[in-house]
Amino acid sequence: MATHIEVHCPANGQFVRSVPITPADEVRAIVDRARVAQVAWGAKSVGERAQFLRKVRAVVLARQDDIVECLVRQNGKPRTEGLIHEVMEHLELLTYFAEEGERILEPQPIAAHLLVHRHSYIHFKARGVLGVIAPWNFPFTIPFGAVAMGLLAGNAIVVKPSEFTPLVADLGREIYLQAGLDPDLLQIVHGYGDVGAALIDGGIDMLEFTGSVATGRKVAAMCGERLIPCVTELGGKAPALVLADAPLERTANAVTWGGLANAGQVCASIERLLVDDAIYEKFVPVLVEKVKALRLGDAMLNAEFDVGPLVNERQLDIVERLVNDAVSKGAVVAVGGKRVAGPGFFFEPTVLLNCTVEMDILTKETFGPVIPVMRVVGEDAMIAEANRSSLGLLAYVFTRRTAHGRKLAERIRAGTVMVNDVLASHAMAETPWAGVKNSGIGCVHSDEGLRHMCEARHVNYDVLPWLSKELWWFPYHSRHQALFRRSLGGLFGRGVDRLKRIVA
Ligand code: NAD
Repeated sequence: MATHIEVHCPANGQFVRSVPITPADEVRAIVDRARVAQVAWGAKSVGERAQFLRKVRAVVLARQDDIVECLVRQNGKPRTEGLIHEVMEHLELLTYFAEEGERILEPQPIAAHLLVHRHSYIHFKARGVLGVIAPWNFPFTIPFGAVAMGLLAGNAIVVKPSEFTPLVADLGREIYLQAGLDPDLLQIVHGYGDVGAALIDGGIDMLEFTGSVATGRKVAAMCGERLIPCVTELGGKAPALVLADAPLERTANAVTWGGLANAGQVCASIERLLVDDAIYEKFVPVLVEKVKALRLGDAMLNAEFDVGPLVNERQLDIVERLVNDAVSKGAVVAVGGKRVAGPGFFFEPTVLLNCTVEMDILTKETFGPVIPVMRVVGEDAMIAEANRSSLGLLAYVFTRRTAHGRKLAERIRAGTVMVNDVLASHAMAETPWAGVKNSGIGCVHSDEGLRHMCEARHVNYDVLPWLSKELWWFPYHSRHQALFRRSLGGLFGRGVDRLKRIVA
């Protein structure tokens, strides 16, 4: 059995470093250490923990070049993407939650509508040890977004990063420790799926999982067995609707970036481009020119390359197979369409025309630099196409009529629909990132995401404690029953709504 992960750069195949795998039978002891450390951390005020996030922010700012370098070597990302998608996004998240954490986690009163002498409030207490299982496509911002929020909520964290990006996780931990964190509060376990499974089995109190639908089903089942909460952020097949009045330049630029950033390895990537028949002939040539202009290559050699490699050979094979399947069923390659001879796992930025739903490229997650285009007549048909997928993470609408775009957006079954923009809402920490259908359960980011990392505990108290008893307590009495029977009509009968309206 392998004892180490050998890390190679996907852009050039060069060996980077070897990382020891955490033996699965040691994971429980790691979780136990986290649990001990969490007691003191959870006892701190939210304000003190927010102050720690500000310290992390200072270290991230100071070490931004180290982070980008690590991402380029380990993941092959273009430098701009390392800087914007990962460093800047994490700084934004740290800032939002450092500023807003106390407000979000302050106790919330609940107004009683019937038993008005009983007051209620919800207060938020850390769950304990949060497990984070992460993918390789955003190996810094995804796991460490959960780390920052989880720590603010008062939890200790154990991260199982992807086996394809272990070094980014080690660097992230180093940064948090440099900011002054107790090492037991943030630990990393390295390895493959069995180590992820050992983490779920190791006594954690909650799991945040980001990855594929197939693995999501397995981890959700394990969490269900253990009755621990589990947030699953899974795959996407985002449709982009280009309406007849879409602004050509902005839409073509947005689609090019939204489909090909991170070489298309984004859960929110445009994977189905639905273009209205009325604009198709004008729009498609503009898009194709933009894609042709992209520079593909190893970011170690040129800091301005736009598109990097796929993460591994397997991913390259999947993309190639889906493109070949589409072409064999009638798709036309407008640009790109094939893998690039090594070293590195590069696939040409690709636009496929004449795509139909019989092609796997319109139904299976591609996770590669391919924009499959469908010509569609009219908005109702576009909405029907958009909603055809079993996935529902992101969707996009392009139109000059923003109000109309919003109306269409509300008809699409996706966790988030953006009008005239792409991908960016993941970088808005205050907004929820959540899938519907098979794209997952629960949300990350947002006030709701932070509160969900806590136990929401309810306190209910009587403001008239000197009354010796309530009428419905023992001993039961027929006099009281008669009183209740008489009161029911008054409390719940038809006249009540009218009375409430008069009082209001
Ligand atoms: P994956 O499911 O193969 O792996 C994700 C993580 O789960 C890895 O760390 C892996 O080692 C671990 N794992 C594998 N088997 C496991 C098991 N049985 N028990 C516990 N852990 C296990 O996914 P991936 O290839 O790393 O990531 C790509 C997928 O992630 C795509 O489908 C993409 O859409 C999705 N994704 C979703 C979001 C989102 O926010 N919804 C964000 C990024 C990526």
